[in-house]
Amino acid sequence: MGYSLWNDRIVADNEVVIDKEDRGYQFGDGIYEVVKVYNGQLFTAEEHVDRFYSSAEKIRLTIPYTKDKLHQLLHQLVEANEINTGHIYFQITRGATPRNHIFPGDDVLPVLTGNAKENPRPVANFENGVKATFVEDVRWLRCDIKSLNLLGAVLAKQEAHEKGCYEAILHRGDIITEGSSSNIYGVKDGVLYTHPANNLILNGITRQVILKCAAEIGMPVKEEAMTKEQLLAMDEIIVSSTTSEITPIIDVDGQAINGGQVGEWTRKLQAQFETKIPAPINA
Ligand SMILES: *Cc1c(COP(=O)(O)O)cnc(C)c1O
Repeated sequence: MGYSLWNDRIVADNEVVIDKEDRGYQFGDGIYEVVKVYNGQLFTAEEHVDRFYSSAEKIRLTIPYTKDKLHQLLHQLVEANEINTGHIYFQITRGATPRNHIFPGDDVLPVLTGNAKENPRPVANFENGVKATFVEDVRWLRCDIKSLNLLGAVLAKQEAHEKGCYEAILHRGDIITEGSSSNIYGVKDGVLYTHPANNLILNGITRQVILKCAAEIGMPVKEEAMTKEQLLAMDEIIVSSTTSEITPIIDVDGQAINGGQVGEWTRKLQAQFETKIPAPINA
């Protein structure tokens, strides 16, 4: 058994009590984040916490803690669980109150919970690549919010899973948006393409790190939407997220990408990403 984040404290997992009338449980009325831990250290925690506050603001939820306090709690969560390499998950809901769509009053406090997990990096995927499948993007029009409402993502990922695929590549009509829990990129003639960060995608922190990596290795970036046809004509395809990092896609619905091999630009981006990973702190 481990330790959980519960509001402003770190407690033993079995101490956490969730009300059945929690709005997260009933409406998915809340937001969340996943942060990677490398060598006991949180990666891009600043960016994740900032996005957490910005998602909260977009759903008009006021987080009753300062960012500093939240950072402190997240560090304590990692330490209490003695995480070396893995990730933490945390979420906040609009609190517990008799079921009613209308927001509760200020007397109802949001409920913050989180946990940490030791979890090895999926290095075999980085090396060998994964398969993906196209799934129609039927989610709402505020995909820029990291909302707890994940039915669209869950159904898409399950469909991909049942087809033996790692990820669903979502498309609205002909336009590729992102993955069910990841961002999607194409590489053509050494140029990196990805959907612009607007309301149709979640602007991944990993996406932002990758765009920085591209700039650092002199790889031009075009934040332009691709059609399905354009994606399939790319030299290389990549999927990214906090836990997937930079994972090559080598097959889409049975069509091999780059002859089913991981491409050279993907390798270069992976190598540059590696330089950003926090090294172990020597005791
Ligand atoms: C979390 C998420 C991502 C990836 O974001 P990271 O910050 O890189 O983990 C992409 N798309 C969706 C829909 C997500 O929920």
